[in-house]
Amino acid sequence: MGETTPPGVEPAPPVAAPMGPAPAPSPTPSTPPATTPAAPVAPAPTGPVITTPAAPKPKAVDCRRVKCVALTFDDGPGPYTTRLLAMLRKAKVHATFFSVGEMVAARPKVEKQIAKDGHEIGNHSWSHPDLPKLTSAAISSQLDRTARQIAKATGTKPTLVRPPYGAYSPRVRKLIGGDHDAVVLWSVDPLDWKYRNSNSVYSRVTSQTKPGSIVLMHDIHGTTVAAVPRIIANLRARHYHFVTVSELYGGHLKSGHVYTDRQAAYQPKATTPAKSKTPSKVTTPTHDGAVDEGSAVFNDPGDEPTDQRGRGDAMGNTGSGGKVGRPEGDGDGVGS
Ligand SMILES: [Zn+2]
Repeated sequence: MGETTPPGVEPAPPVAAPMGPAPAPSPTPSTPPATTPAAPVAPAPTGPVITTPAAPKPKAVDCRRVKCVALTFDDGPGPYTTRLLAMLRKAKVHATFFSVGEMVAARPKVEKQIAKDGHEIGNHSWSHPDLPKLTSAAISSQLDRTARQIAKATGTKPTLVRPPYGAYSPRVRKLIGGDHDAVVLWSVDPLDWKYRNSNSVYSRVTSQTKPGSIVLMHDIHGTTVAAVPRIIANLRARHYHFVTVSELYGGHLKSGHVYTDRQAAYQPKATTPAKSKTPSKVTTPTHDGAVDEGSAVFNDPGDEPTDQRGRGDAMGNTGSGGKVGRPEGDGDGVGS
């Protein structure tokens, strides 16, 4: 299981055009001193405690201004996930886990621990099929069943979906959007399912990561998990902030949109152009790493062109091979 190729069906996100000043965060509501009595403290729950994944804090890092990276782990929870969680806890790093429903069913306690540790959890289908090849009813079943299983284990329904192999079609995307979920792909792929070597995973991730990257890894591989502490140390030394996918986008992911990274939005303070020099020309609006509605290049309203891409999976089954696409066309995230 696992993604073998970068999402080749993705049109290249717009190159970071000179952006105007980033939209100012909404002003702090100038609410007068509270005159209403504070809400009564909720009585202690008597049932099972619902663990809420660490919601992005209001004062979370602004990934348009500082270097952020979202580490993501797919296909688990697996035998190495608990070890990975200990590593992330020790390093004080939050990541995003795209869980497979049947794996959650097998290890509900591990899934619960992922949420308890403050990581974000996304939906990676029930049994890791190529979603565009399924009927709409089957796609919905894959996603809904997994969402319920994750909610059962953690108390929270996921709002992010990573389709297996990064394969989606307009139909898949519409179904995901209809569930009010966002599609999350990636921009850095160390091919850890293929190169079961910690040094390889380490060097590929650290060399390809840029501010705003979403890194694809698989916690079902011991070699990947073993590389994580060094990856974190390297990126941290380069002043990266580790964020969940939702945090990377400031908590503003839109239903049905496709996200591969947020590199286009990164504009460190030091290089922010002076306001007075803003050209009068219309600048290309940044898409902030998201693919706009309607901009995906598909010809077939039904099943779609992902078949063109190489196939394989994280369990080591290589696919038929094929065209390699690049989400952002800058040489990173090599896939095959
Ligand atoms: Zn996968």
